[in-house]
Amino acid sequence: MGEKTRSLYSEKAKQALESQPLQKGLTGLQDRFGKGAVKYWRNMEDPGKRDRVKKSRMESFAGLDTILAQLASNIRKRGGHVHFAGDGQEAIDCALEIARRNGVRSVVKGKSMLSMEINIDQALEQDGIEVVETDLGEYIVQLAQQQPSHIIAPCIHLDRNDIGELFAEKLGIDYTDDPPSLTMAARKALREKLLNADMGITGCNLACAETGHISLVSNEGNIRMATTMPKIHVAFMGMERVAPTFEEHRETLELLVRAATQQPLSTYVSFIGGPAGEDDPDGPEEFHLIIIDNGRSKILASPEFREVLACIRCGACLNVCPVYGKIGGHAYNSTYCGPIGAVITPLLSGVNEHADLCKGETLCGACLDVCPVKNDLPRMLSELRYTLAYGSNRWNVRQHNVRESYIFTGWQLVVTSSFIYRSLIRLARLIQRPFTSKKNGMVRTLGGLARGWTDTRDLQPIARQTFGEIWKEKYADTPETAGVAVHHAAGSEPDPGRQPQQPEPVARDYSENSVDPLPLLEILKENAANQNISVHSAASYTETVDIIVELVRTKDPEFSHNKHIVLHDHPDLNRLRLWKKFNREAVTVHTTFASDKEVRAKTGESFIGITAPSYCIAESATLVQLTSPGCPRSTSLVPSIHIAVVRKDNVVATLKDAYDLLGTKKIPDSFVFITGPSKTADIEAHLVHGAHGPRELHLIVVGEPALPDQGEESLAATGQQSKTDQ
Ligand code: SF4
Repeated sequence: MGEKTRSLYSEKAKQALESQPLQKGLTGLQDRFGKGAVKYWRNMEDPGKRDRVKKSRMESFAGLDTILAQLASNIRKRGGHVHFAGDGQEAIDCALEIARRNGVRSVVKGKSMLSMEINIDQALEQDGIEVVETDLGEYIVQLAQQQPSHIIAPCIHLDRNDIGELFAEKLGIDYTDDPPSLTMAARKALREKLLNADMGITGCNLACAETGHISLVSNEGNIRMATTMPKIHVAFMGMERVAPTFEEHRETLELLVRAATQQPLSTYVSFIGGPAGEDDPDGPEEFHLIIIDNGRSKILASPEFREVLACIRCGACLNVCPVYGKIGGHAYNSTYCGPIGAVITPLLSGVNEHADLCKGETLCGACLDVCPVKNDLPRMLSELRYTLAYGSNRWNVRQHNVRESYIFTGWQLVVTSSFIYRSLIRLARLIQRPFTSKKNGMVRTLGGLARGWTDTRDLQPIARQTFGEIWKEKYADTPETAGVAVHHAAGSEPDPGRQPQQPEPVARDYSENSVDPLPLLEILKENAANQNISVHSAASYTETVDIIVELVRTKDPEFSHNKHIVLHDHPDLNRLRLWKKFNREAVTVHTTFASDKEVRAKTGESFIGITAPSYCIAESATLVQLTSPGCPRSTSLVPSIHIAVVRKDNVVATLKDAYDLLGTKKIPDSFVFITGPSKTADIEAHLVHGAHGPRELHLIVVGEPALPDQGEESLAATGQQSKTDQ
């Protein structure tokens, strides 16, 4: 098995090097995300955050049993089900039992690496259940019957031509290599599946024990759909993916998103703490959280590898790794690839079987620099190599290669004794002479084991002098080298221009004292523009109505010819009396009343959804949308256009402010952060809006304060469910 995997690794690495689309995709990915992450950490306003999150992650492991019990208890209080699975098979059995009991025939999946780790798809399909991946990249690789090759860019190995041909064959559309057209074809095909599936399966990016929620990040909106539309939601969670407190959750979430895509926040961050409430008109009837061990306890018990569990699967280490940057994800032959895959795969699936992964990495340290939680992957890769060289009962590794261990023992002797090291260098200089070309001074051919090195390239000869010898010769007499303190006379200090320069962080003060309403709105507008959110300022609710009426009149429905709009049953929206505004147009206005069984259908036929989020966060242009019986999840998700009406006094400065405000009240079972319209860049990094959720997001900031009693007339009060003014 070990030999087989080893040869597979080399074979697939070779194939990857020859693949033009993959090489192009990897270069683009590393240029964009790799360099972006390095730059972000360098300029970070709060450099201590990475250490705080790492500390929090590591400390949480010490009390993981209590933290998980708290999470489970909070979810169960809301009517959710929490299951603990010792291994992948137990998790599969649990999910199958839920599916069979509910007569599930179709499953839509949101991207979940853990579900791939345990291979749930195969088990469901063997039970006759249709399984559809709904993340665009995952959907493409599923259609191509391949495996994802990156944590956040699963189809990086395919170019637009490959995808065009694939869609023409599998979806029956005319061939096109236009990323927006391909994305729209997938949107149409997947929408049917998402709206009609029996069960949604997702992972869990990070749970919060204190509040009893799992949280899921996505840009496309598929995960929101998969957790909203089917009647059953099953979430798989690795036992380590939990933050003890809401505050620790916030800091970890911020790092996760920054490291993954350098966004201030993903388009959607969904918080789910149970099934839909009794009066909620949408949301799943059953919510199951399956917390999976599958080898993690063993890692937790290993001081040398425990740190790897702090990983939050952002994918940043892949984006800077020189090895991954050449061989891509498939060579790792595992769910997890890149530097994190080279460490976690052997630990979860067998050190012997995946021996080549840790040997293939360069230990250059780029992954450590960029990891949001400063996971020391190079150290753990070295530990794995040590385990392989010297054997380990814990990891069931026999001493792999006795000869290799002798070689490294000898090497240790050489590099720790300057006498032996220098003597051998002198000897090597003599030995290399017959092999050195007179023409260019390079070593052209070597014999024996070393021949492989010179088969395809020349080798630099050992220099005539070592660095130490040159240094000694040139600087032996200077006071610095003699350990003497040097005081530079005025005017003779070292040239500051030659010191490494750190770019200055952009000064932006979000602290409470600095924020008055006007700059806050300006900051919001600036950030909203970056997120493709159209911001409209309305001095009053009368102006708000005018803006909405204009949008309804000028925009066209995407999926039908009829103009239906749907709005939350919320005091700020009811006071708009929108149902009275379309006197001459054929516009149907629906309101999402609690317990209305037809809300799903009405929302499905609406091309505009109007909501009144509780808060809007200026620093990231994020809407905080809470779920309640009259304010269901689908209104901001299913229609093609989302209009959010926010009062100016509900604009807060930072994500921390929003978390603090949420923490002061009873946190609802479900809520979502929305930062822009749905989007994807899965096809050759081409940004397209409207992957699954709304294609447009309009934010209306209203200057007028709330009514004192919030007791506006609503359609519910008038006894009308929906009204058509024609
Ligand atoms: S090891 Fe660090 S950089 Fe790599 S996926 Fe995990 S958290 Fe991200």
